[in-house]
Amino acid sequence: MATRTQAKVYFERRSQARLKTPLVSLIVPVFNEAEVIPHFLEETNKVLTGLGLPFEYIFVDDGSHDTTADVVAQNLKDGLPGKLIGLSRNFGKEAALTAGLSHVKGDVAIVLDADLQDPPSLVPQMIEGWRSGYDVVYGMRVDRSSDTFLKRSTAGLFYKLFNRLAHIDMPANAGDFRLIDRAVIEALHKLPERNRFMKGLFAWVGFPSLAIPYERPARRAGEGKWNYWKLWNFAIDGLTAFTTLPLRVWLYGGVGIAGLALVYALYTIIKVLIYGVDVPGYASLMVAVLFFSGIQLLSIGMVGEYIARLFGEAKQRPVYLVQDVITGADTKVDGKASND
Ligand code: UDP
Ligand code: MG
Repeated sequence: MATRTQAKVYFERRSQARLKTPLVSLIVPVFNEAEVIPHFLEETNKVLTGLGLPFEYIFVDDGSHDTTADVVAQNLKDGLPGKLIGLSRNFGKEAALTAGLSHVKGDVAIVLDADLQDPPSLVPQMIEGWRSGYDVVYGMRVDRSSDTFLKRSTAGLFYKLFNRLAHIDMPANAGDFRLIDRAVIEALHKLPERNRFMKGLFAWVGFPSLAIPYERPARRAGEGKWNYWKLWNFAIDGLTAFTTLPLRVWLYGGVGIAGLALVYALYTIIKVLIYGVDVPGYASLMVAVLFFSGIQLLSIGMVGEYIARLFGEAKQRPVYLVQDVITGADTKVDGKASND
């Protein structure tokens, strides 16, 4: 991603045009995070007030069953700047991020998890990267030891496969944790698809990007929301949204198999012509029938995956529904609400 860094003119122009005091919006999707939110706010407030920039929180409550919404609402009432967007049910993190993005007022937005696995202490570095002209500054995990071996290796495999098939450069070991400029937010608004694989969409829109390495700590409190089945489906969603190779591969597979079948047919005909009728052949027949019906089912299944997604897009349902919005104080500079 950072390969287009040669365009000096662009960076000079961008960095000169940067606002001195940009409004920083923090997008925080939350799903049953009541336990960790006080820790999260304590750390982020410290970092943000240290920056001396105006900021707002955009919390998106993704249909929590616990007291998450109450905890956030109480903080907003007590003078926390920003908003709580309450979704009508759990739509998943991707939808929650989309909701957050459409409510930000900031000149820059920072996406981060509530569980403090995306360390807020990186925010000043991200702002610095933005000031020097980068439109995207993302956190890159150098140490995933807080993840299990299985998760690390499957994730590595997924990134390799994705980048090879999808022809967009999605940096490995980068999550959703990132700062994006207003220009990128506007670009993301232009993508109308319902299947929101955010990491892919972030990569697809491009823009000069800078990676900041960090060690990913373990979750501060509460529980993770992912299991392997969810991750597997997430990976399929991601791949099908960005490549049609799984469809096209059957074209070549079909041509190859048809070619082989033709050769085999010619061989059989010639054999019969030379040696006469040869009835035995049950085993080879069964193998051929079973093998090819397997391949056919597999390819129909693959086509089905895409049809299912077409169906999803064709219905044109909204990505999320907002149940209510609670507004807190106005944006703050130096820890004081600007309206007091
Ligand atoms: N999250 C969400 N909706 C969901 C699942 C998760 O908004 O359906 C939020 C969650 O509250 C957290 C972030 O997404 O702030 C990341 O979730 P988690 O920590 O479970 O994921 P991981 O760190 O394993 O990627
Ligand atoms: Mg987490």
